[in-house]
Amino acid sequence: MKGLCILGATGSIGVNTLDVASRHPDKYKIVALSANSQVERLVELCIKYQPEYAVIADENLLEDLEKQLNNINSSVKALSGIEGLETIASLPQVDYVMAAIVGAAGLKPTLAAARSGKRILLANKEALVMSGQIFMDEVKKNNAELLPIDSEHNAIFQCLPEHYDKGLAESGITKILLTGSGGPFRTKAISELSDITPNQACAHPNWSMGRKISVDSATMMNKGLEIIEACWLFNTNPDNIQVVIHPQSVIHSMVQYSDGSVLAQLGQPDMRTPIAHALSWPERIESGVEKLDLFAIAKLEFEKPDYERFPCLRLAEESIRKGGTAPAILNAANEVAVASFLDNKLKFLDIAYIVEQTLKNLPSRAAYSLNEILEDDLSARKEAEQLIKLRVEEF
Ligand code: NDP
Repeated sequence: MKGLCILGATGSIGVNTLDVASRHPDKYKIVALSANSQVERLVELCIKYQPEYAVIADENLLEDLEKQLNNINSSVKALSGIEGLETIASLPQVDYVMAAIVGAAGLKPTLAAARSGKRILLANKEALVMSGQIFMDEVKKNNAELLPIDSEHNAIFQCLPEHYDKGLAESGITKILLTGSGGPFRTKAISELSDITPNQACAHPNWSMGRKISVDSATMMNKGLEIIEACWLFNTNPDNIQVVIHPQSVIHSMVQYSDGSVLAQLGQPDMRTPIAHALSWPERIESGVEKLDLFAIAKLEFEKPDYERFPCLRLAEESIRKGGTAPAILNAANEVAVASFLDNKLKFLDIAYIVEQTLKNLPSRAAYSLNEILEDDLSARKEAEQLIKLRVEEF
């Protein structure tokens, strides 16, 4: 029986994780759940899954959470804030931590899981994008296990040989082929993109996801963040990663070998497959996902990515080549710009502009510790907010 902590339980990945885990009550025990502000939803999950701990990240809502748990005579222990999240990620009775908080807020609790030597099921790509080497060092030092949940990275992991950590070239790998659907605006005229609304951007053709990652998919910043994530997870660099646009989202990514073989992982666009894979690895469990019907799909297509249409791809690649705190600056500026867009304050095409200007205005530096990363994350947020203010005043 493995004890499971789900950071971000009320979100899209969190709910899918609970769905898969609850199909196997003999294998997984839900020990702890967290949310940011959805107290009622968190309490509903507590009633259904009976964890030992519930954490509400927004400290102002702890009293409300305690009151609601009291009203139902629940014995669930309520905690709050970053400390509460770090506590549940490090509990001795927790074996697996699903890192499914969105954005930079997930960094510290995910690092706490690494420092406690847990199996980390990593959905929160922003944490790895920001802290790269520091995060990977903590995983290694503390014998933690890092299993990717992002469907692309999970697919790559499934297509790699067992000892790929000796080096991709040494393992006979010539390229990682990172697929992406191209999002909802792959074929839309660029002139029509300026007036895109948040709801249009969040209507992904194949995947149902949280709003932030949906916008990232529409700008293709998501693919950019995934390039950075792949560099850290698989110890490689952008020269060895080719983004392949594959509109059907049936192939979740591929690995090309020196003998000409290309291994691919295929499946439905349903996150329960990578979640089940990472929960049960190296075994396999039932996930509730519908079987793939190749005859119904009939056709698979591939295209080169369009870097003009999607400047965020270029910005992400440039930032990982630059290294140090540059990816953290890129990520922070993007989080601020996306939040502003979702709030109807910034235009869709200005997301890339804000990220690019923030990277231009703020010099990055080497990241020796978390301090440099968190300081530059904060400076980038302030800079991006200032740039957005100026941009809004221009119109
Ligand atoms: P959602 O927006 O659906 O859920 C986010 C979760 O994080 C919620 O539980 C939310 O709580 C919580 N949260 C939000 N802000 C904070 C904060 N400041 N502090 C603590 N908790 C917070 O996101 P997704 O599930 O879509 O995505 C989660 C992560 O997984 C992202 O990093 C994303 O890139 C990655 N991912 C997602 C995929 C998907 O299919 N959805 C696919 C691959 C990767 P509350 O509900 O209270 O706001």
